[in-house]
Amino acid sequence: MDISYIINELGEDREQYFGSVAPPIFQTSMFAFKTTAQMREALQNEAEVPFYTRGNNPTTTILQKKLAALENAEDALVFASGSAAVAAAVMANVQAGDHVVCVLKPYSWTNKLLNLLLARFGVQTTMVDGSEVAHFEAAIQPNTKLIYLESPNSWTFEQQDIAAVAALAKKHQLLTIIDNSYASPLYQNPIGMGIDMVVHSATKYLGGHSDTVAGVVCGSKEMMRKIFHSEFMTIGAVISPFNAWLLLRGLRTLPIRLDRVSQSTAEIIAYLEKHPKVARIFYPFSPSDPQYDLAQKQMCKGAGQFSIALKAETMEEVERFCDGLSRFLLACSWGSYESLIFPACTLYTSENYQNNVLHWSWIRFYIGLEDPQVLIADLEKAFAKMNTPVAQP
Ligand SMILES: *Cc1c(COP(=O)(O)O)cnc(C)c1O
Repeated sequence: MDISYIINELGEDREQYFGSVAPPIFQTSMFAFKTTAQMREALQNEAEVPFYTRGNNPTTTILQKKLAALENAEDALVFASGSAAVAAAVMANVQAGDHVVCVLKPYSWTNKLLNLLLARFGVQTTMVDGSEVAHFEAAIQPNTKLIYLESPNSWTFEQQDIAAVAALAKKHQLLTIIDNSYASPLYQNPIGMGIDMVVHSATKYLGGHSDTVAGVVCGSKEMMRKIFHSEFMTIGAVISPFNAWLLLRGLRTLPIRLDRVSQSTAEIIAYLEKHPKVARIFYPFSPSDPQYDLAQKQMCKGAGQFSIALKAETMEEVERFCDGLSRFLLACSWGSYESLIFPACTLYTSENYQNNVLHWSWIRFYIGLEDPQVLIADLEKAFAKMNTPVAQP
C-alpha cells in the first residue's frame, strides 16, 4: 500500500465528523446506546466497536489501522507505552512452565520483564548471542514457546538474521516477536520476513516530538483479538485519546523526518569514522560494521541511532566531551526532532563499576533534524575539550 495514503487517509472518515480535516479527539471514557439490544450487541463485539475507552476509542482506532498497515499486518493494538506493548505481546503467549529464547542485550525493561517479572511466574528465559541462527536453535527446549528479537538491539545495534530466525521458529512451531523500534516500519518490515508480531515504542520515531509515551503491537487479527481479551483489557495500559491524536499528528511527517535523520546520520558517521578520538562505531549501516551485509539485506536504510567508543584514558575525559556539547541534549529516548546523547558512564555507580556490560567510554547518539554541519561543528568543539581539564579556581 502507498505509504502516503496510509499516513494521510487510511482509517479516516471525514463525513462522520463534519468534514473535519484533522480527526477529532474523542475525549470520552464511554459510549452510550439507544436500546438494550444495541448495547448488548456492542458488548459482544467490544474488540471491534466503541463501548468503553479502555478497549476501543475512535481516535485510537484510526491510529491502530495506520500502524497495522505500515507494518503490513492485519491488525494492531496501541498501548500507553512501548514497555506495555512488549509485556502484553509476551505475556499473552506464555504460562508457568514455558520457556522463551531472547536475544542478548534487548531494551533494559524487556530484559527485566523476561528475567525478573516473568521468572517470578515460572517462565524461564535463555538469552542468546543473536549473531548466528545456530545459537537460537541450540537454546530451543521442549517447553520453548517463543523467540524474542530486537534487531538492531539497543546500545550496540547488533542485528539478527530475521528471515532465518523466523524460518527456524516455524520449523519448531514457535511464535516470534520482534522489537522493530530502531528501524521504524518504514525501514524494516519483519512480518514480510515471517515474524508473527512486531512491537514498537511509539514514543520514538512514530510520535517523533518528545511529547508522548506510547507503544504498539502489530500482528494477525486472531493474535490481536487474543491479546485484546487478555492482557490488553485486564492490565489496561490504555493510551489516552489525546495521546493517540498526538501520534496521528506525528505520523504525518514520519517519512520526511526519517529521510532527514538518515541522511544527517550518514554524514555524521562519515565524520566520526575518520576522527582520531573515536575508537569504535556501532552502526549497522557503517560499511566497516561486521553486519553491514545483513543490514543491506533486511533494512532499507540506516536510522539515527548509533554508539561510539571514545578513545579516552579516564571517565573524566568522557564527561568533558559530553559536557562540552551544546547542540546535543543529555537525555534518554530518541526518535524526535532533537539530537541526544546518552553516555554509558551515567550508568556507573561505585557499586556496579566492575560488572557493567556497557563500557564507560561508550556514548549512545541520536541524530535529530538539526543541520548536520552544525552538529559536526559542535562535536569538533567537544572533542577539543576532552584533554583540557577546566582550570581549578
Ligand atoms: C524506548 C524503548 C522501548 C520502551 O518503550 P517505552 O515507550 O519507553 O515504554 C522498547 N524498546 C526499545 C528498543 C526502546 O528504545
